[in-house]
Amino acid sequence: MITIRGLRKSYGDVLALDSLDLDIASGEVVALLGPSGCGKSTTLQLVAGFVEPTAGEIKIGDRMMSRPGMVVPPERRGMSLIFQSYAIWPHKTVAENVAFGLQVRHMPKAEIVERVRRHLNTVQLEHLADRYPSELSGGQQQRIALARALAVDPEILLLDEPLSNLDANLREEMRFEIRRLHDTTGVTMIYVTHDQTEAMVCADRIAVMNKGRIEQVGTAFDIYEKPRTKFVAGFIGRCNALPGKLTAPGVVEVVGATLRATDESGAAGGSAISLCIRPHRVALGAAPEGPANRLRGRVERVAYLGEASDYLIEMADGIRIRAFASPATPYRPGEEIDVYLPVKDCRVVAE
Ligand code: ADP
Repeated sequence: MITIRGLRKSYGDVLALDSLDLDIASGEVVALLGPSGCGKSTTLQLVAGFVEPTAGEIKIGDRMMSRPGMVVPPERRGMSLIFQSYAIWPHKTVAENVAFGLQVRHMPKAEIVERVRRHLNTVQLEHLADRYPSELSGGQQQRIALARALAVDPEILLLDEPLSNLDANLREEMRFEIRRLHDTTGVTMIYVTHDQTEAMVCADRIAVMNKGRIEQVGTAFDIYEKPRTKFVAGFIGRCNALPGKLTAPGVVEVVGATLRATDESGAAGGSAISLCIRPHRVALGAAPEGPANRLRGRVERVAYLGEASDYLIEMADGIRIRAFASPATPYRPGEEIDVYLPVKDCRVVAE
């Protein structure tokens, strides 16, 4: 439904967005995830029609929405936007806040009443319709913003860090709330966030961005289990990235040993790569099930975390591996132990 091709935006010397290609299906939730300054908000501003691209184009269906020299204005794009400062009016009640966008559109009064009721019901605020925002919690205020954005029946809802002003507990609850809202309304969403869990909970697919480009697009499972770059592996969850060399397909030289790994990197034989393995997939002491690479290491540090023990282990060449093991694991600092890296959990990623 939304087709983005070769999208680029520069501000003077600053290249905010390098080159972006992305297809978003109708009814899909796609998260743009990445560190601050990687171009997420710029992408959203371009999709919303606030900003003109330097190059590339954005289409919705067959309709050209943006290209250099031509931008369909925001109010004619069938989109609603929600920002982190959700900008609700303090002197209007909850219902009046939601009704405002409909009054501006000169909708018949009976229909406004019906829509406000329906959308307050969707965000579970119907019982607070006559309250003022100051009488509500932060999460409830954010729900008003959601109801207001949905009331105009947008084809597409754009959200820019919508939960970053809420405290941690509320943020966690609201992630599920936003996903539920999507499942109730079926609205297409583009969701900008720097929070990986938020992206994983809310989105059907995640586009991981870095330095004005998308490094990988996929489901939360794909991004986590099959990262294609070192950046993606490190940004989504913790990851050991051990520097080494690809010597043959699926064979790497790392920490002074020859190890086997899953290799979908496309890297050429002989090239420098990283071997990535998540800390909780590293097995200490006893061999795990299935084929595994066996190494020796020395426990440098261990911290008891209740649900797990967090080990730092020094391997050959001074390279360190993090391992999350059962809290019952008895190894102490200074001890030499076997370290197993299950082959299925070792992935080669290009440098
Ligand atoms: P993100 O949303 O991922 O934090 P942004 O899209 O806001 O990143 O910004 C990407 C880059 O573009 C940053 O380096 C930022 O400083 C720059 N940038 C964004 N908007 C402007 C602007 N209006 N003028 C100049 N530079 C900008």
